[in-house]
Amino acid sequence: MKVTMIAHTPNPDIVSAAAAKLTHSKTAPDELLNDEPEKMKKLLKSVVGMGHTSVIEHAYFTFSIEGISRACSHQLVRHRMASYSQQSQRYVSMDEPQYVIPPKIKANHKLKNAYDEAMHNIWGAYNALMKIGIPAEDARYILPNAAKTNIIMSMDGRALMNFFELRCCLHAQWEIRELASQMLHAVKEVAPAIFENAGPMCKTRGECMEKAKDCPNYPKAESRAKGD
Ligand SMILES: Cc1cc2nc3c(=O)[nH]c(=O)nc-3n(C[C@H](O)[C@H](O)[C@H](O)COP(=O)(O)OP(=O)(O)OC[C@H]3O[C@@H](n4cnc5c(N)ncnc54)[C@H](O)[C@@H]3O)c2cc1C
Repeated sequence: MKVTMIAHTPNPDIVSAAAAKLTHSKTAPDELLNDEPEKMKKLLKSVVGMGHTSVIEHAYFTFSIEGISRACSHQLVRHRMASYSQQSQRYVSMDEPQYVIPPKIKANHKLKNAYDEAMHNIWGAYNALMKIGIPAEDARYILPNAAKTNIIMSMDGRALMNFFELRCCLHAQWEIRELASQMLHAVKEVAPAIFENAGPMCKTRGECMEKAKDCPNYPKAESRAKGD
């Protein structure tokens, strides 16, 4: 997959910090932007740390996501606090076999060959349907979850925090976890204060929603939650 942040709110840390400061200040909102940046970021971290995450809704981030599977994009679009534009299988010809191979299948030569063969059979059937005049909107029914897709997605800081909590978790499915981890890396570059403590729930809250006792982070998360 290729994940690129293509746009974001200018100065996301400072804009969010100004929103946080505004609530306790007589100063005009636009003047707050001129406060000392390091002080502003400290205030923001403290406010976000207390759970007042509405202030980071002012920061928006847009990603170009290329070459993920439809299995992954289906999980992605369950996150409703976001905007999406996805490549259409009605209007874009899918005639070339373009598919994701899960690492566990790729690692086994025999399995990978069988997988490739199944994919080529599927695309053979797709192209045969198209050739006899079946419209793409119907021929696509035969395409697999593995078929690659491209998406542009925009999310605000608060929705991203929730997304990272759920999808950076070691129990999240590997492909969406890889996507979330690349997105987290990208947002930390441009908004280090907002996302300083972003990550899976065991990191942000010291809790394990999955109750995943087989996870290497589990005992740490549970003892933090108990205050040990
Ligand atoms: C490990 C894992 C396994 C999963 N397995 C399954 C599965 O088997 N089957 C399945 O169907 N889904 C599954 N999901 C998807 C999951 O149930 C959520 O739909 C998905 O993670 C989106 O989360 P969200 O609703 O918090 O995000 P968003 O839709 O972005 O919402 C963000 C937050 O906004 C609030 N919100 C949004 N919409 C509403 C609303 N209508 N009413 C009230 N509050 C709202 C909530 O606080 C929510 O947490 C799984 C997710 C994970 C991480």
